[in-house]
Amino acid sequence: MINRKRKQVEQQLGKVMGWVLILAILSGCGREGSSDGAAAVKAESAEVFKFRMVTTWPKNFPGMGVAAENLANAVDEMSDGRLTITVYGSGEVVPALGVFEAVSLGNVEMGHGAAYYWKGKVPAAQFFTTVPFGMTAQEMNAWLHHGGGMALWEELYAPYNLVPIAGGNTGVQMAGWFNKEINSIEDIQGLKMRIPGLGGEVFNRVGGSAQTLPGSEIYTSLQTGAVDATEWVGPYNDLAFGLHQVAEYYYYPGWHEPGPTLETIINKDAWDSLPPDLQAILRTASRMINEDSLSEYTARNNDALSELVEQHGVKIRRLPDDVIEALRHASREVVSALPGEDELAQRIYQSYSDFHDDVMRYHELSERAYINLRPTN
Ligand code: CA
Repeated sequence: MINRKRKQVEQQLGKVMGWVLILAILSGCGREGSSDGAAAVKAESAEVFKFRMVTTWPKNFPGMGVAAENLANAVDEMSDGRLTITVYGSGEVVPALGVFEAVSLGNVEMGHGAAYYWKGKVPAAQFFTTVPFGMTAQEMNAWLHHGGGMALWEELYAPYNLVPIAGGNTGVQMAGWFNKEINSIEDIQGLKMRIPGLGGEVFNRVGGSAQTLPGSEIYTSLQTGAVDATEWVGPYNDLAFGLHQVAEYYYYPGWHEPGPTLETIINKDAWDSLPPDLQAILRTASRMINEDSLSEYTARNNDALSELVEQHGVKIRRLPDDVIEALRHASREVVSALPGEDELAQRIYQSYSDFHDDVMRYHELSERAYINLRPTN
């Protein structure tokens, strides 16, 4: 009994002495090493990283270009200048459609654009921008951040030495600008239209001729007749491009882009060179612009639409039902065929489709039901 008690006391004492020893070592080393340690921490935190970000947008373009600038400003502020990002518009360092390769090769550290521009190289990337008749912005964000989408996107870009982060969303777009009225599916036959991504493939399937052009070439292409029609984004962006000056009819709804996600891409080596806190800042800032750009579009589209109609006499038209039905049918074929034999693309398609079907069930009772019952003005 006494022995056991003594043993307990010795154990307790041992623990206390252990702590005293540990504290002594810490404070001792701390004093000597604290200057070294603190200096090391300070030196590490004072290291300044200068990244260049090429974009697929004209410099400072409303919405997307501004989102890229906002990302850079937020990172600069949050990191107290330890990570600075210089933003370049399309064509300043590389052409708009050269962004993916430039960042992948490490010629620049970062890029901002949309994943569907890279469909020639990475077909499944299109799922991470938008799918015709697919998910809205709210649903895309849910899939990416709470439904497994981001992990698949990271897996898809890993072979290209790229880290993707969601970096914006325009909300539902407009169907586009046309120089003639579209009264039936016959009017689509042979029509040359700028429409990228899966929407373009669907457009081809119903008899149209889809072109992929960067934003900077749209106005001139429509003006010179190189294309007969174009989609771009929605009233806020389309007004800024002056598309009402080169086309008369403005069609809705944006069946082809119901909630396109923009992307921030970072070269993996550049990403790995950052300490964890700067990685966290970059991630957080990109998530910020992902949400903020959608808010900006929601706030600005309305005034722009009024200006287009009231000041510029733009004629708003809804796509006829037979055109929408043909597009919907073709979309199912194109989207389900996209994965082909590619195992990763099949998993992405399955994940997207399953989430889409799940989210629809409640959104029928919530988002759609509510919007339908809201009084119109
Ligand atoms: Ca578009």
